[in-house]
Amino acid sequence: MDINKIREDFPILKEKAYGKPLVYFDNAATTQKPIQVINTINEYNSRFNANIHRGVHYLSDLTTNAFEKARKTVQAFINAKSDKEIIFTSGTTASINLVAFSFGEKFVKQGDEIIVSEMEHHSNIVPWQLLCERKKAVLKVIPVTEAGELEYERIPELISEKTKLIAVTHVSNALGTVNDIRRIIALAKKHEIPVLIDGAQSAQHIKIDVQELDCDFYVFSGHKIYGPTGTGVLYGKENLLEEMVPWQGGGEMIRSVSFEKTTFNDLPFKFEAGTPNFVGAIGLGAAIDYISAIGLKEIANYENTLLEYASLQVGSFEEARFYGTAKHKASVLSFLFMGLNPYDVGTILDKLGIAVRTGTHCAEPLMRKFKITGTVRASFSFYNTKEEIDVFVEGLKKVRRLFG
Ligand code: PLP
Repeated sequence: MDINKIREDFPILKEKAYGKPLVYFDNAATTQKPIQVINTINEYNSRFNANIHRGVHYLSDLTTNAFEKARKTVQAFINAKSDKEIIFTSGTTASINLVAFSFGEKFVKQGDEIIVSEMEHHSNIVPWQLLCERKKAVLKVIPVTEAGELEYERIPELISEKTKLIAVTHVSNALGTVNDIRRIIALAKKHEIPVLIDGAQSAQHIKIDVQELDCDFYVFSGHKIYGPTGTGVLYGKENLLEEMVPWQGGGEMIRSVSFEKTTFNDLPFKFEAGTPNFVGAIGLGAAIDYISAIGLKEIANYENTLLEYASLQVGSFEEARFYGTAKHKASVLSFLFMGLNPYDVGTILDKLGIAVRTGTHCAEPLMRKFKITGTVRASFSFYNTKEEIDVFVEGLKKVRRLFG
């Protein structure tokens, strides 16, 4: 990988923060966009904008084709069997809410159980809590070890004949832990329990093959994989999606409407009510093309070298305490420094042009488990460099001088 060439593709990396070169280590929150994605969005907005699926005219036809091509790009990216299994949404949160409602309405009744884990993002907790409240169902939780790994051996005792779904994250946004989802899926399959994988932090680091994984749902956000904000994907197995009830009603998701009876459209349109973010979806296709051309294996290898280097450098401070020391991790470094409030550390780093995230990372139950109010989180992308990590380490030295 030619990092200098790659960095040229990301205009924002030339920006300054407070007159200092920007060091962007907040990639788990959102990733920057390459010029190829920016140009695609600009081109569609400035030359081809027209509402899709409904027009007979030139522009509508062109944009519809580009939108459906983007769906096929997503299908190939995660190796779904059919493009009917790819639903465009506004992001991971919307995808999970869609499943929690549509699957929940169809399959979950009073006394049933849903299993999540203690390391989930709020997006993979709250929609299930809402479902459980609606249906008087029960939410069960897979605990996490001190190292930030799932307690896999506890899962069998959580499963019962009432378990209707297991929803777990592939990669923890707060700790970087890569979960052994194969193990969870294999266990769930034994009991014929569907599994939803939250891929918000994995689609950009790990090659996904939904058929090989045999997960029932896989969800991710466009903005975290170098695509536009307000885009996302729900992959679902066709037979399940067919059975699920529609989520939102409106145009596009119907076949015919009358006051007596409305019938619904085929997949995937049944779950795409209203005008979708079609320019965004086309931009997401461009982002997937971009990272696929580099190669997810190459990306993961390089990001791992950054994580190793950063872990070593930050670990050399005896004032640093890491959270998330799992064997298998994505490029996320979560830590506390000198016992300081993470916000103080983040604020000083910010003034040096270094963007990190501080706080609970939308994972309050996990923070509560560790009895902390949050961490400092540096998350790396393939456009980051060891030199930037050196700047970050100098920043931590400054924090030490100021608070020491
Ligand atoms: N799940 C995980 C693991 C995440 O990291 C995030 C965002 O940080 C989400 C879900 C929610 O993603 P979005 O806000 O893009 O819907």
